[in-house]
Amino acid sequence: MKLFAQTDAEAFVKTGAKEFRYNRDVSITPAAKDVLSESGVKTIFDTAAPAPAAAVSPAAKPAGKASDEALFNSPEARAIKDQICDIGRRIWMREYCDGNGGNISCRLTPDRFICTPTGVSKGFLKPDMMCMVDGEGNQVAGTWKRTSEFTTHLAIYNTTPAAISVCHAHPCHAGAFVIKGLIPPPRLIPELEVFVGQVAYAPYRTPGSPEMYEAIKPLAPQHQSILMGNHGVITWGNSVEDAYFKMEITDAYCRTIILAQSIPGGTSIPCEKMGDLMDIKKKLGLPDSRYDLKPAELCEIDPWQTMKDRPCECSSPASAAAAAGATMTNAELENTVQSLTEEILKQLQPK
Ligand SMILES: [Zn+2]
Repeated sequence: MKLFAQTDAEAFVKTGAKEFRYNRDVSITPAAKDVLSESGVKTIFDTAAPAPAAAVSPAAKPAGKASDEALFNSPEARAIKDQICDIGRRIWMREYCDGNGGNISCRLTPDRFICTPTGVSKGFLKPDMMCMVDGEGNQVAGTWKRTSEFTTHLAIYNTTPAAISVCHAHPCHAGAFVIKGLIPPPRLIPELEVFVGQVAYAPYRTPGSPEMYEAIKPLAPQHQSILMGNHGVITWGNSVEDAYFKMEITDAYCRTIILAQSIPGGTSIPCEKMGDLMDIKKKLGLPDSRYDLKPAELCEIDPWQTMKDRPCECSSPASAAAAAGATMTNAELENTVQSLTEEILKQLQPK
């Protein structure tokens, strides 16, 4: 059986032929089928067809391809594939991904990444479904087609050398903040402060688009957890499990805040204790954009007041620019203030 993979299909398309005839000795991978159909090439099963020249056995492939295959089947790659399957199951069990939602990747070498395929539930991944992709997002190994959102992962890898793995999912509690255009306020639970840090907010962009890449890029180096407007959450870490931990902590934090909304009152981590958390974090070698802030600056935001008052993404200088799309313009703000003032004056007038 000869395998006709994505790169074979790409080479075939370049020949300009409009029909691809194959027989039972050839197995076409799903990614190769996509390449052919997207290029308008018809695939025809024909028992009399000769073996296509492009469908070569792995042993006969050129050196670059052979080394990618070797890397893809190395013990290191196998270990990562197993970890991704394990985390996929955990993501699905915790209802962080719906349908085919979510994707996971891990850096194998400086420009080779293992990632999940498109169109499958993360709860039922198998190691042989994994893909290997280069630093530009081109698939270089694996018979399943890579996730279309890998380019968004690249926005993190290309700007953040410490990022070894990226996890993207659609968890419902963080998702509630996402569709409200809100960043969960800080200073409520040490777990988030130390192990995740300031959560950032990227405005909505089409999933997998170059615009999505651009929206994530400036936030990634300082933020291990980023809410993606009207979409989901993307996190990064120093291992597949660590990237997933950021997802789990972010969603648990959001869930706790949502639950707490139905209970009166609310306390926060005292201002003077925030420095201790930053010290712990620094010792662990974790990034945080707040290291240079003074204790008073760390406490500028009153978390509970923020939840009552206004979207909080506009109160964080680091994410203000990114969230600009979700906040009011000055003109809009002025109009709102004016109509509120008029309304109040009307109410005050004797009837
Ligand atoms: Zn998504």
